[in-house]
Amino acid sequence: TPILLWFRRDLRLSDHAALCAAAETGRPVIPVFVHDALVDGLKAAPKWRLGLGIGALANSLAEKGSKLILRREKDALDAIRALITETGAGAVYWSRLYDPDSVARDSRIKEALKEQGVEARSFGGHLMFEPWTVETKTGGYYKVYTPFWNSVKTRDVDAPRSTPSKIPVPQTWPASDAVEDWDMGAAMNRGADVVRPFVQLGEQAAQSRLGAFIAHTVADYDTTRNLPGQVGTSNLSENLALGEISPHQCWHAGMRARQEGKPGAETFLKELVWREFAYHLMHHTPHILTKSWREEWQQFDWKDDARASEVWAWKKGRTGLPFVDAAMREMYVTGRMHNRGRMIVASYLTKHLRTDWRIGLDWFEECLIDWDPASNAMGWQWSAGSGPDATPYFRVFNPETQLDKFDKDRAYTSRWIAEGRSNPHKDALSYFDAIPRHWAMGATDSYPDPIVTPAEGRKRALEAYEKRGF
Ligand code: FAD
Repeated sequence: TPILLWFRRDLRLSDHAALCAAAETGRPVIPVFVHDALVDGLKAAPKWRLGLGIGALANSLAEKGSKLILRREKDALDAIRALITETGAGAVYWSRLYDPDSVARDSRIKEALKEQGVEARSFGGHLMFEPWTVETKTGGYYKVYTPFWNSVKTRDVDAPRSTPSKIPVPQTWPASDAVEDWDMGAAMNRGADVVRPFVQLGEQAAQSRLGAFIAHTVADYDTTRNLPGQVGTSNLSENLALGEISPHQCWHAGMRARQEGKPGAETFLKELVWREFAYHLMHHTPHILTKSWREEWQQFDWKDDARASEVWAWKKGRTGLPFVDAAMREMYVTGRMHNRGRMIVASYLTKHLRTDWRIGLDWFEECLIDWDPASNAMGWQWSAGSGPDATPYFRVFNPETQLDKFDKDRAYTSRWIAEGRSNPHKDALSYFDAIPRHWAMGATDSYPDPIVTPAEGRKRALEAYEKRGF
C-alpha cells in the first residue's frame, strides 16, 4: 500500500529522513501538501513565500518523476483521510514541527490514524538536536545560551542523507488542487513583485547560497556579520525557515570550513545553535510565543496601541533615525532584515517607544519571508529584556552610535533611504513602489526629524524601568 508523505516546513528532497524512509520501503510514495487552518493563519509574507516554496518543491518532485498532491481542508486530518480512502494508503510519514499549534495538530492526527489502523510516523530533520534530548546536569532545560552551546557543540550531528535515486510512484495519482488557486499571496498588499527578486527560492538556490557563503564569506564572518551594508552573512534563514535546506547540511559545511581553518566558521556554527536554542526554549516554555517569558515582566506597563502614531512611524520607517528606518524599509522590500537591524529596531520600539514587544513581533511576522516562530519570539523577548538570557532592559541601543560603528560609510542607510538625496539608490526608490498608497509617502518628501531622539528614548526607558522597581 502507498505511503503518504506529508510535507509541511521541509520543502526539500535531500537530507529528508521521512522521504528516505518512505522510498526505502519500495512502496509507492504520494507526496502531499495540505492547506489547513494553520497554513491559513499565516501572515502575509510567510504565507506568500510558502506558496512559492510549494511551487518549487512540486517542480523538484516532477523532475524526479513524482508529483506533489495539494489539498485544502480546514482540518488536515480530513484531507489525509480522504487521500487514504482514495489511494488505499496504509501509512503517513512527516517531519516533526515544534510550535505548540503544530504539535497539538500532529498528535491528534497521529492518534486518529492509529485508531484507524493507519501507520503514522514522524521524523526529525528540522532541528539537529531534539529539544528534549538536551538537558542540564539536573535534568532541566537550558535558559542560557552558552551552557546550551557547550552541551551540544561536541555532539555528533547526523551526516546529511542524499536524495533517494528513485521515488516509487503509485499506479494512478489522486486529484490535486493548483497552488495558484490557493492565492497565497492575497494578503501581500504591498508589491509582491517588488519583493520577488530578493527571494532565493528552493532547494538548489539554498545549496548555492550555502556554497557561496562557505567559499567567500565565512572566513571573515566574525567581522562582516555585523555590517549590514555588506553581504557578510549566509542569508540562509529564508531557506531554513521552510526547510529548503537542513540545519545538518549547514552544520557539516560549517564544520568542514572550520577544519580548513576558516576563522569565522565556529561563529557560524554557534549561530546555527542559536536557532536550536530558540526551539529548545519554545518546546520547554511555549508561552515564550505569547507572553513575557519572565513572570515579573508580565505586568510591565508597555504601550499597547498598535495604531499609535509612533508605532506607525516605526512600521513605515519614518522615525527620523536612519538606522531604524533603513532596517524597517529593508524588511518591507526584501522580506528580510539584517540581524543588527533587527536588534536596533526592536530595542527602539520596546525601549525608546516603550511599546509592547508583541506589536513588533506581529509586524515582523507580517513582513518576514524568513519568519520563524521560535527565533522571532526569542529575538523579540531578548531585545525587550523580558526573555531568558535577554539583554538587560537598561541596555538601550543608541541608533546613532550604532550607525557610526556598524555603518560607518553609510552603505546601508543610503541604500534604503531616498529622501533628501540627489541620486537615491534604486532599492531606496523601490520601497515607495512597495508601500500601499494610503501611507502617502514619497521619495521626494523631506526626511523627518527624530520622533524620539536617542537621549530622550533612553531617559524614557530608564524611567519606566525604575518605576517598575526592577
Ligand atoms: P547567519 O548570520 O548567516 O546565521 C546562520 C543561521 O543561524 C541563520 O540563518 C539562522 O537560522 C541562525 N541564526 C542566526 N542568528 C540567530 C539568532 N539570533 N536567533 C536564532 N537563529 C539565528 N531569525 C529567523 O530565522 N526568523 C525570524 O523570524 C527572526 N526574527 C528575529 C527577530 C528579532 C527581534 C531578532 C533580534 C532576531 C530574529 N531572528 C530571526 C534571528 C536573526 O536575526 C536571523 O536569523 C538572521 O538575521 C538571519 O540571517 P542569516 O541567515 O544571514 O544569518
